[in-house]
Amino acid sequence: GPYGHSPPVYPSPNTTGIGWEEALIKAKAFVAQLTLEEKSDMVTGTPGPCVGNIAPIDRLGFAGLCFQDGPLAIRVADYASVFPAGVSTAASFDRELMHERGLALGAEFRGKGAHVYLGPVAGPLGRSAYAGRNWEGFAADPYLTGVAMEETITGVQANGVQVSAKHFLAYEQETQRIPSVSDADGFDEIQQSVSSNLDDRTMHELYLWPFANAVKAGSASFMCSYNRINGSYACQNSKTLNGLLKEELGFQGYTVSDWGGTHSGLSSIEGGLDMNMPGGLGEYGEYLAPLSHFGGNVTAAVNNGTLDIARLDDMVTRIMTPYYFLGQDKDFPTVDPSSALLNTNFPLDTWLRNWTLTGPSSRDVRSNHSILIRKIGAASAVLLKNVNATLPFKAPKSIGVFGNDASEDTQGFYNQVDWEYGTISVGGGSGTGRLTYLVTPLDALKEKAKETGAIIQQFLNNTLIATTDISTLTIPTPPEVCLVFLKNYAQEGADRTSLDTDWSGNEVVESVTSYCNNTIVITHASGINNLPFASNPNVTAIIAAHYPGQESGNALVDILYGTVNPSAKLPYTIALETDDYNGLPTTAVNSTDPYAWQAWFDEKLEIDYRYFDAQNMSVLYEFGFGLSYTTFELSDLAIAKLSNETITATAAPATILPGGNTGLWENLYNVTVTLTNTGDVAGAEVPQLYISLPSSAPAGTPPKQLRGFEKVFLEVGESASVSFRLMRRDISFWDVVRQDWVVPEGEFVVSVGFSSRDLRVRGGLSVL
Ligand code: BGC
Repeated sequence: GPYGHSPPVYPSPNTTGIGWEEALIKAKAFVAQLTLEEKSDMVTGTPGPCVGNIAPIDRLGFAGLCFQDGPLAIRVADYASVFPAGVSTAASFDRELMHERGLALGAEFRGKGAHVYLGPVAGPLGRSAYAGRNWEGFAADPYLTGVAMEETITGVQANGVQVSAKHFLAYEQETQRIPSVSDADGFDEIQQSVSSNLDDRTMHELYLWPFANAVKAGSASFMCSYNRINGSYACQNSKTLNGLLKEELGFQGYTVSDWGGTHSGLSSIEGGLDMNMPGGLGEYGEYLAPLSHFGGNVTAAVNNGTLDIARLDDMVTRIMTPYYFLGQDKDFPTVDPSSALLNTNFPLDTWLRNWTLTGPSSRDVRSNHSILIRKIGAASAVLLKNVNATLPFKAPKSIGVFGNDASEDTQGFYNQVDWEYGTISVGGGSGTGRLTYLVTPLDALKEKAKETGAIIQQFLNNTLIATTDISTLTIPTPPEVCLVFLKNYAQEGADRTSLDTDWSGNEVVESVTSYCNNTIVITHASGINNLPFASNPNVTAIIAAHYPGQESGNALVDILYGTVNPSAKLPYTIALETDDYNGLPTTAVNSTDPYAWQAWFDEKLEIDYRYFDAQNMSVLYEFGFGLSYTTFELSDLAIAKLSNETITATAAPATILPGGNTGLWENLYNVTVTLTNTGDVAGAEVPQLYISLPSSAPAGTPPKQLRGFEKVFLEVGESASVSFRLMRRDISFWDVVRQDWVVPEGEFVVSVGFSSRDLRVRGGLSVL
């Protein structure tokens, strides 16, 4: 059907607290004691110690709420760990590591007194290769992202820390994410945020999908995004907030606006927004404006009869139910005073309330998390090329290290800027981390060289490397192995303008390979990069190490020396040519029409591998691809129905639990395969299950879609049976007419393989 219009869905559903019944009772009792002014306070952020704050209510013993970024570290903090970014975590294709990362992050947030972890990210999903924040999210695939959301959320919340799944919804570019103002003619002209215009099926099957997992996993809150969706701002969009999130998915917690993403009072509240952050008007990045769309205006709206107090009560109830459910009313640590002092959003003199900062300052919450960080770092380094058995190293005696991404940052650790020198371990913006130390690749290589007696010669100036004949500088010439470190920086607030690595990375590789026939390229990248040198015979190996966090160098050395056998997979596709990518960000809109910024998601379901498959295009490295130092085989695919009951096309209507109709999450089939390590080293592999819907599914159905993956470690010669559960949702499409998930008639193809284009075993399945 037509899209670009967002249908109205009112009123905003009240929470039923389903699943959180006892907490709901406590929340209601709390709300019953509040004055109207206190209720307005509870839904409006205010300057304070954290990036977002809800003021304490001393007479009720309520200490307030502290919101912190998110998603790879507690950013505004000292003595905290910097974990691998979302894109790295996804590349691990390892559920356990995803969960452990969530557990460790949650522990650090709790230790610092943060009630809410602003993450994880499923928007952006990765519609566009250029999107500036893809690295904060997981994968250009809703299934993998959905699993990562679930594992992260249950991990974080196990610590009694709330998550705020973000950015809801269809937030796929940075350009014009917030309104811009110009006054060319002396009058303010406002250009509203870009509108993501997408059809209902694409909404359900791609962008909403991982957020359904987030609701299912028990997310305390959801952060609505900066963009408009089908013409209506995400934080006042009644279709997405009331309709999709609260009704269809049965979400029982609260929605919070992205910082400055609230553009109205009553319209937002009725559209489903429960909390305005950081509270002030803040529409154009100005957080400290004393006025607010919420705050006193909420009180006034109730008093003059425009806002039903029942809606306000529901907002506060939604905020307090997860608080009680997660036990935040008992023994929750105070906000670390050092975090308050590092908070640039709200310097102390901007605070409007008295916040007493108690408890020890500069608490070290890092524990032994460096071990896990290193482990995920190694588990997420994707080996893309490895010829002449160049890797793992056989103790090379002479190693050349090239590129400004190999070594120390010379201008400060806090990765907010694309410095020329320094390895990139995380991206920039609110999703960055404050490193307490960083093991660079060069550090770790030197440490290892001490053990093996190797010599290391380094050339870190990209301009010099690209323009000098370095063969005159090395002994021996060339070194046994040349490591080239390339990087691309990405940050919140800007989309990438090129898919090449920064600082003339391609020229650096060209120069090094002109004399070194054993060149290994390592990229530290936000996601998709052009690798024009991939077929250069002197490039013997390529590793996509993404943004691995503080243990970057150690994790890489584990892979290079074979301490860890690589097992990561690309969570996106690298095309052959720059021009091959679709879903480009909308840019350079030249119009005075305030609503001119429109991003039409006309590619519909065809993003990333769904697109390249549908168009039958060759690619350089496909989604799910990654090499190992050993070899694996798959055999014996078997499909078993899990119950004797007849399967109907749609799930029976049922009580909506968090996650939506429970029937969608019911496991209907079990698929098993046998995986064997046929090579000569132990290692892990990720069998991936892709499903092809029968031809009766509507036009536009992608040729195949990921619906299962498992990371399995096997000793040499060992075999294991690997099983995948297929839920109803996994074998359905979203029927826009029936407004339901429907299992199509006919023959499905179930394939399992080692990437989206390396499918080894197949089976057929007729459901209806
Ligand atoms: C970002 C959010 C972040 C918030 C608070 C916003 O600009 O989009 O992801 O959580 O700031 O720092």
